This record gives sequence, structure tokens and C-alpha cells, in this order.
Amino acid sequence: MSLKTLDPTQSEAPAFVLGVRVDRVSQRQALACMEQMVTRRRTNGEPCQQVVTVNTEFIMAAQRDTIFRQCINQAALVVADGMGVVWATKYLREPAPERITGIDTLIELAKLCAAKGYRIYLLGAAPGVAEQARARLESLAPGLQVAGTYAGSPAPEEEEEIIGRVREAKADILCVAYGAPAQELWIRRNIVRLPVAIAMGVGGAYDFLAGRQRRAPKTMQRMGLEWLYRLYREPWRIKRMLAIPQFMVLVLLKGRNKL
Ligand code: UDP
Repeated sequence: MSLKTLDPTQSEAPAFVLGVRVDRVSQRQALACMEQMVTRRRTNGEPCQQVVTVNTEFIMAAQRDTIFRQCINQAALVVADGMGVVWATKYLREPAPERITGIDTLIELAKLCAAKGYRIYLLGAAPGVAEQARARLESLAPGLQVAGTYAGSPAPEEEEEIIGRVREAKADILCVAYGAPAQELWIRRNIVRLPVAIAMGVGGAYDFLAGRQRRAPKTMQRMGLEWLYRLYREPWRIKRMLAIPQFMVLVLLKGRNKL
């Protein structure tokens, strides 16, 4: 994690899994870090900070895509989204304390925003989904101020308009649901002109919040088997999920290499 974002005395050096950075923070520390980012922007006008929730698919994609890898490694905060990533950090003896999923982070962030009066903007997903996610977040975090919602698309020709909308909405936090790596690269491309404290990719989080996708039962989540449930609901993901065993083999073979 960049020293600017969290008291260095409280944070461990990041882990590197197959050359991809993973900050060794708990959910609570990650939220404290994000709270600092908003405070710093509000008081000192600091530039937008990128938050990435890294899962095994990200790490495998980053093996082939140098720009994506740089994007993750240069983010302000990179959290371990998934048991595969937590397992790898433990195997490498640089353990991340816990799994921090995009959707849980979004819900906890919404509660923080409600408590502190921060404004959140929900960008991405299919038309209408972000509005439904907004309603659900407002019920989970009473008092939440959602600055706006917009589907848009990650196409470069739409960037100007999207940024204008976010600016007008006076948001503190921008959540982007365009799937990885498009959402992370969109944020990276635009980071210097994003008029918010934090921009974070949230993948399919609005689909879950809107009830269009069902999350795995709690026991499966606790056992780290959320991926298996997702595969059962969406078998077309098999190709993407083959990244998981490939990831494990690679970590076992050359996990300690730092690129
Ligand atoms: N998405 C979008 N525009 C695009 C591509 C994707 O709005 O051009 C949305 C899609 O509707 C979904 C999210 O991005 O809500 C990506 O979800 P996915 O489940 O693929 O992401 P994951 O959670 O696997 O990263």
C-alpha cells in the first residue's frame, strides 16, 4: 500500500503474487484507508486514488497484460478479493489477513458513506441495474447519499460525458462496474481528471445487489467456494474459471518470483 494512504506503522509490506501486488490489510484497515483518501481530497484537494479488488482471474490476466499489471501495482490500494489470492499470500509467507470481496467492500463503504456524509456514484452495468443496486444500498445503509447512477459504457468516446456527469453529481467515491480489466483500465486512463477521491472497480456487484445474480449460501462463502456456486449458476464462466487451477499450479511452481 502506498505510504501516503495509511499509517505505515500499521501496515505490512505488500505481498507479490506472480508479480501482482496484494496489500496485506483487513477489511477494517481497507475502509480506514479509504476514509483517509476522502478526507485528504476534501481537505487538501488530493488527486483521485484507485482501489483494486484483485482475484485469481485478475492475476492470471495480468500475466499476459503488462498494462493491467502496472495498473494494479500502481493503485493506491489493492485488496485480496477471493480465497485463492489469500491462499497464495499465505503460501508465500506474506499472508493477507482476510478475503475482501468487491461486493462486501461496496456495502461497507456505503455504510461508511452514510455515517460520514460521503457521496457515492454508481457507474456501469446494464441500463437500470445501478438504480436497483442504489435502492438496495440505501436500505442496507440508511441515510446513504447516492450522488448518481449511470450505465454508460467503457468506450473512450463516452469518457468525457461520463466524467461530466460525475463532476456535476459532486461525488466523493466512484464505483465502476464494467468488468475486469475494462473497469480498472478505464479508471487508470482517466484517473488524473476524475473529480472524486476514490475510484474502484466493482465487477458484477450491482447485479448481486439488484438481485439479478444470487450470491452463494453463507456456508459456501465461508468455505471459500463462492466460485463453485457461481459456476453452477453461470456455466459459461468455465473458461474464465480455468484460471483458478492454472493459478494454483503457477503459484506452487514459481510463486516466489517478484517481477
Ligand atoms: N458491463 C458493462 N459494460 C460492459 C461490460 C460489462 O456495464 O461493456 C457490466 C456487466 O453488465 C456487469 C459487470 O460489468 O454488471 C461485470 O460483471 P462480471 O460478472 O463479468 O464481473 P466480475 O464480477 O466477474 O468481475
